[in-house]
Amino acid sequence: MTDAPAPAFVFIGGRLWLDFVNTDDARLGIRLDTIDAFDKYVEWLEAAELIDAARASALRRRALDQPSGATAALVEARRIRAALRALLERGRGATGQTARDAAVAEINRVLGRAVGTRRVDAIDDRYVRTFVPVGDVFGGLVIPIVESAVDSLVRGEFDRIRTCADRRCPRHFADDTKSHTRRWCDMRTCGNRAKAQRRRRRQA
Ligand SMILES: [Zn+2]
Repeated sequence: MTDAPAPAFVFIGGRLWLDFVNTDDARLGIRLDTIDAFDKYVEWLEAAELIDAARASALRRRALDQPSGATAALVEARRIRAALRALLERGRGATGQTARDAAVAEINRVLGRAVGTRRVDAIDDRYVRTFVPVGDVFGGLVIPIVESAVDSLVRGEFDRIRTCADRRCPRHFADDTKSHTRRWCDMRTCGNRAKAQRRRRRQA
């Protein structure tokens, strides 16, 4: 059985920040950073419906004028992503205090530096939180992602966040099922592979 061609980005996490962490992905067991360039980062923000097409093309134009600013924004986004991944992978239980403290410090560094206005905006038929930065146009892009992580921290919902049961798969998701039995990031890929494996084992 072969998997269908993978889409550029997957939104299976159930939380914005988990989907962002999952941009540091793996395909067929090989690690793959799907936002390895500023343009890809903008593409992701648009796919996540954090910005609309007009803002995305304005950002791309601005990146041509200010390549160093765009690169810095990408480096910052990936740094935050690493801190959030460390929080997910090492920040649980009694032994996770150091990772939790580091992630919270990183979150507060980002929130503390962001100067701008929080807004709620309608994109198509839904509402999204946005952040309109003052000065640095690239600076606030990551804010809604960080705030989504803050929401999870404040709600104390970490016991619901899981790593995909496929050991080669680095994806995280919130298990929002009533039975708390979600095990796979995606039934079409990892879940499907596991099902096929069980079937093969039964037939052997
Ligand atoms: Zn998976």
